[in-house]
Amino acid sequence: MKVLANDGISQSAIVTLKNAGFEVMNVHVAQEQLQNFINEHQIDVLLVRSATKVRKNIIDNCPSLKIIGRGGVGMDNIDVEHAVQNGINIINTPEASSESVAELVFAHLFGGVRFLHDSNRNMPLDGDTKFNELKKNYSAGRELRGKTLGIIGFGRIGRQVAKIALGCGMKVIASDHQVGEADIKLSFYDGQEITLKIKTAPTADLIKHSDFISLHVPYQTGYLIGREEIAKMKDGVGIVNTSRGGILDEAALLDGIESGKISFAALDVFENEPAPSIKVLMHDQISLTPHIGASTEEAQERIGTELATQIISILG
Ligand code: NAD
Repeated sequence: MKVLANDGISQSAIVTLKNAGFEVMNVHVAQEQLQNFINEHQIDVLLVRSATKVRKNIIDNCPSLKIIGRGGVGMDNIDVEHAVQNGINIINTPEASSESVAELVFAHLFGGVRFLHDSNRNMPLDGDTKFNELKKNYSAGRELRGKTLGIIGFGRIGRQVAKIALGCGMKVIASDHQVGEADIKLSFYDGQEITLKIKTAPTADLIKHSDFISLHVPYQTGYLIGREEIAKMKDGVGIVNTSRGGILDEAALLDGIESGKISFAALDVFENEPAPSIKVLMHDQISLTPHIGASTEEAQERIGTELATQIISILG
């Protein structure tokens, strides 16, 4: 059995699969060559992350495929229904990267309130000649402690974000159109555990009362946060989007920052990936990362192990 890991896979997963008798090809085949490559090598399992698209043409024209695996959560790059109708198993690893994404949210939040994203751009340029000017520019920082974090989408990642927020002394409001309440379990080094119940609130209330808003919903057909929602937010709000591009209206976001309504934004995902708008990229009040929410060594290990275990149980 042959596995093509087209967007990479952890070394431990390769070892696990090899030990179970699978041949693993850990190479990246360009999208245009993928169909030919799968047929030429009679690939049984195609593993992707978010970069490789697995559309109907590949599913229809590659009869050797038995499993399509997505390392991560969102399946928008795979025609899942069509694959299932064609008898192909679809697997993913929804839990594996939640903590990594949540930590990135806080990297952006801590950075945002102390202007680190901008300071890191300007210190190498002017730090030796305009030190005092830069010091003045970045002196009106704020603390996260005591502020209210609004979490829209209280699923796997939203709850991990809540956990860190509580540890930082923030107040948490969550909204979710399906989840009414969720248990947030905090574990301590000596084995003690505290479980807090968080009841969700209407998104409209969250928008009104939050000092910072973090988005954790799946792909939506329209904007979840646009002009209307931004207008109802608190003055000076900070917005973080690590969920999906297209959930947050970037034009409305830029206008909100220009008007002073929004103090800063942090984006890991963009409307036009992989070529985000230059206006967004150049803005000094936007903290930027190139869709790396799940990209920690720990998450990649968990993703690889989960995929390998599922492949072995289906085909082994
Ligand atoms: P999840 O399915 O566990 O949780 C999503 C929650 O959002 C669900 O509880 C759902 O009921 C809720 N929801 C959906 N639409 C809503 C709406 N309109 N209003 C309020 N709540 C709504 O998903 P998750 O694992 O927490 O992932 C969340 C998002 O993060 C997804 O978009 C996923 O693609 C993205 N993600 C990004 C990265 C990254 O690298 N930046 C990595 C992993 C996941």
